Amino acid sequence: MRLCLHAHRQLTAYLVIPSVLLMFLLGGCPAAREAASVADKPVVVVSIYPLADWVREVAGEAVEVYTLLPPGANPHSFEPTPEIAARAAQASLRLVIGLGLDEWAQSLQTPRATTLVLSEGLETVPMAADHPGEASGPNPHLWMDPVRAAEMVARLVPALVRIAPARREEIERRAEEYQAQLQALGEELAKACQPYAGRRVITMHNAYDYFLLRCGLPTEKVVTPFPGKEPSIQYLQELAAWARQQEVRVIFAEPVFSPKLAEVLAREIDGQVLLLDPLGDPQDPARDTYVKLIKWDLQQLLRGLQAG
Ligand SMILES: [Zn+2]
Repeated sequence: MRLCLHAHRQLTAYLVIPSVLLMFLLGGCPAAREAASVADKPVVVVSIYPLADWVREVAGEAVEVYTLLPPGANPHSFEPTPEIAARAAQASLRLVIGLGLDEWAQSLQTPRATTLVLSEGLETVPMAADHPGEASGPNPHLWMDPVRAAEMVARLVPALVRIAPARREEIERRAEEYQAQLQALGEELAKACQPYAGRRVITMHNAYDYFLLRCGLPTEKVVTPFPGKEPSIQYLQELAAWARQQEVRVIFAEPVFSPKLAEVLAREIDGQVLLLDPLGDPQDPARDTYVKLIKWDLQQLLRGLQAG
């Protein structure tokens, strides 16, 4: 009923009174009907936005997908609100990356959902390999490599078919097409970065190792080895010295972090700050799908490499 009233308010605001009358003559409230049809669809909850885009690419309208991490939030330090927990409770399927990235999403109660940990069994690289003793374990940012993304998309298929069995053929066909697109994207990264072989990159946190490796570049150095925790002055001084020695002129900041540290470091090396983003943004037409996000990141990376 709340949805229905909301729709009426909107319509009145646009002065389309005859439509409101017609709605009653036809015997109902379109918003209420829409709400009912949404409730009929199986709900998929995902920890981070790129996974929601994969689900939409593969399942189309067959399922309702909800991203648990709000835009602008940091997945490494997020604490879900009661509203987000309530969303998760409706899910038939929960998708997470795993490897410690989104434990908060895995800890939510989902009484009706199966949970798919997409990183399981995939080839990983160690986290912060340059700084032993600081962060350890496999790096969880696997989705930033389109080829690993294609493997994860293949895993979605049986899980989505289980909750939407009537759409099996459509789901399988769409997944196949999308995986081919992701493979091609992986090749595009490698080709575009060929002229920059061996070049080093400094990013805000270690979200881009898999992306850089697919580009054929070495793994990154990071401003914050522990996302959300300030690095020591000594660490930053060593990083600046390393950057000068490597002739790195760009620090890649990130939309969800304050750019302050990146700016300080950029001044220190007489360089500039550009952005890279591992999460995408449903509100930004340049980064509102996974494929657009990776292409946007590639353009940013190339700008940085050309400037360096
Ligand atoms: Zn991260």
